[in-house]
Amino acid sequence: MKTDEMISAIQTKLGIQVDGRAGPETWGAIYTHIVGLPLETAVDTVDARSEKSIVTLLPEVQPLARALVHKAAFSGIQIKILSGLRTYAEQEELYARGRTKPGNKVTNARGGHSNHNFAIAFDIGVFEGNKYLADSAKYKAVGALGMDIGLEWGGNWKTIMDQPHFQLRPAWANSLSEKAMLAELRTRTADKMAIYV
Ligand SMILES: [Zn+2]
Repeated sequence: MKTDEMISAIQTKLGIQVDGRAGPETWGAIYTHIVGLPLETAVDTVDARSEKSIVTLLPEVQPLARALVHKAAFSGIQIKILSGLRTYAEQEELYARGRTKPGNKVTNARGGHSNHNFAIAFDIGVFEGNKYLADSAKYKAVGALGMDIGLEWGGNWKTIMDQPHFQLRPAWANSLSEKAMLAELRTRTADKMAIYV
């Protein structure tokens, strides 16, 4: 039996997609099968600053944020997760900047109108050593890595391009506009319903 045939047999047994290649999904399923714990516990935590933001995210999003930090590091790019959840009040405070408060405008989203308000979105920063790079071609590279693991990347947005931004779109929102998704997120939050079902 060749290696790819063995992997295919394992994939069949684990009930996951059979392609004969042991990618992250296969390793995750093997881990869960043998260790008995969900895959998210298999992803090592990252630097302390990133973890501060990561723990504010929904459990479904946390392993992906960590995976992105690891994946970027494998590609030689140092990133940190700089923000995660924002409350409606924090969002309103940001919205006020450049409007009723001093400074430049930083967002067009009011409280309840940003994916950050629902713990499904996070922003990264690219670093070189201790130096934060606000502008770097590396954001684009990280964007591709994020999409690879199923995240949406703000760099693809037409209206306000947002390269540091990533989010995990719930499956029910796949065919919804951003606006319609946000409306449903507000409803689910008000009704204390789960976001990812
Ligand atoms: Zn963002």
